[in-house]
Amino acid sequence: MNSLQIKNLSKVYGKGDTAVKALDDVTFSVEKGEFVVIIGPSGSGKSTLLHLLGGVDRPSSGKIFVDNTDIYDLDETQLAIFRRRQIGLIYQFYNLIPILTVQENITLPLLLDGQKVDDKQLNNIVTSLGLNDRLDHLPNQLSGGQQQRVSIGRALINNPAIILADEPTGNLDSKNSNEIMELLKMFNKTYNQTLIVITHDERIAAQADRVISIEDGRIAKDEVVRL
Ligand code: ADP
Repeated sequence: MNSLQIKNLSKVYGKGDTAVKALDDVTFSVEKGEFVVIIGPSGSGKSTLLHLLGGVDRPSSGKIFVDNTDIYDLDETQLAIFRRRQIGLIYQFYNLIPILTVQENITLPLLLDGQKVDDKQLNNIVTSLGLNDRLDHLPNQLSGGQQQRVSIGRALINNPAIILADEPTGNLDSKNSNEIMELLKMFNKTYNQTLIVITHDERIAAQADRVISIEDGRIAKDEVVRL
């Protein structure tokens, strides 16, 4: 089953002489539970694509279907709800809220969505992430690897259909980088969530089910790495 269909997606920033075509007629589908890496040089359009997939920005043209819903057909309120419930976003620099504790950062999406915290689910996630003894810490009391684990917890707490990660290991040393990738792959298999990771690191690409290479806003290659 395709959980995600991207059809003729284009994004132009700016107008006239200064217009930049960041994405140019991109079409592909992703199956539920697939782990896809999107690789490409800096400026090739990877972040633009990820933001469009996450409903954070709107395309200039083209469509994105998630489970057959055209997400850009939704109004702003519906799109915000879609984002909160269906998408888990992980960033290179974690984007944690500095004045909130680890537990508060992880459960924030539930709070924003007016949902109660399920203690058992929270405990499962926190245990898998090895954060049990850090729940009352603030982000600046944690290592980079720990902060990224908190942001993975925040992305997972709503049990979204799709996890989108933008250079999730870009700020980490190789040991922490490996640990974060192992966690993302473990959650991808355990919860059968679709995982899309942006990187320019070939070692991360080698771990995916499929690698899509982007160059100048277009798909240059789309390869199945493992079946
Ligand atoms: P990548 O993530 O592969 O580095 P981006 O998606 O960030 O690439 O950028 C693709 C192109 O779009 C680049 O030329 C970049 O300068 C341009 N771009 C990205 N965001 C904006 C923006 N908000 N306004 C204008 N140009 C942008």
